[in-house]
Amino acid sequence: REDLFLQFQITLYGDNERLVMARDITRLHRLEQMRRDFVANVSHELRTPLTVLAGYLETYGEYADQLPPRWQRGISQMQQQTSRMQNLVTDLLLLSRLETDHQVEQAEPIDIAGLLDSVRQDAESLSGGRHTLRVDVTETARLSGVEQEIRSAISNLAFNAVRYTPEDSTITLRWRAYRNGAALEVEDDGEGIDPVHIPRLTERFYRVDKGRSAETGGTGLGLAIVKHVLLRHDAQLEIDSRPGEGALFRCAFPDERLVKDTGESAQTAS
Ligand code: ADP
Repeated sequence: REDLFLQFQITLYGDNERLVMARDITRLHRLEQMRRDFVANVSHELRTPLTVLAGYLETYGEYADQLPPRWQRGISQMQQQTSRMQNLVTDLLLLSRLETDHQVEQAEPIDIAGLLDSVRQDAESLSGGRHTLRVDVTETARLSGVEQEIRSAISNLAFNAVRYTPEDSTITLRWRAYRNGAALEVEDDGEGIDPVHIPRLTERFYRVDKGRSAETGGTGLGLAIVKHVLLRHDAQLEIDSRPGEGALFRCAFPDERLVKDTGESAQTAS
């Protein structure tokens, strides 16, 4: 049956004995699908009212100087919170789309040096000159994937590095070749993360310091988005950090995702 979902567990005993267990997870799968649809629908429905609110607030903002200071503060607060909600809705919609399609279909060769340099510029403007941002790419590397998605993953990591490290920290965006593939890395020399938090960082809305969520401006979905973008590209997110020793976020891609220069036109994998 097409709508049946089974989960298999195979245990090996000795040389030639195997225990195969099959579990019917159809109901679980259907519930998960309902949860995803619900989140996607609510997010979609919130988009229009938020656009209307943001539009009016922008107009009121233009006349704010004619209002008493208390009202001016109110309008500016409403603008900030509306924009936060709009970012949240955008990220929820992106996440639900990424969760639904497990494989990218339209892969294209991505120029890594160009991509990292452009993300560095965006991160620099977020930092406002308070951090040192470097790009470290030694070869002309190209990756087969969806550029917009890879850009959003690296931007999330770079923006996090800006948001969660103190002034004067150094942030490096790096491409590094390994024996069985290559990795895009974002490394900082900030305060680092306690290892107890690391396994949970890619959960939606998981934050190390819950009190700082409003102040940092993130949606709490950044690393969940990174994880799902990577899954769609057969890649993995590895996080290495210790308190006081900075953090390294590594997006590890398998060899098949690298575009090799054969002299002919670029080969792409999907
Ligand atoms: P958000 O940044 O919106 O809170 P994310 O999913 O992007 O959500 O990040 C989850 C949490 O991981 C952050 O709240 C922060 O506590 C921690 N974190 C992410 N990147 C870093 C970093 N470079 N250094 C220290 N902590 C980080």
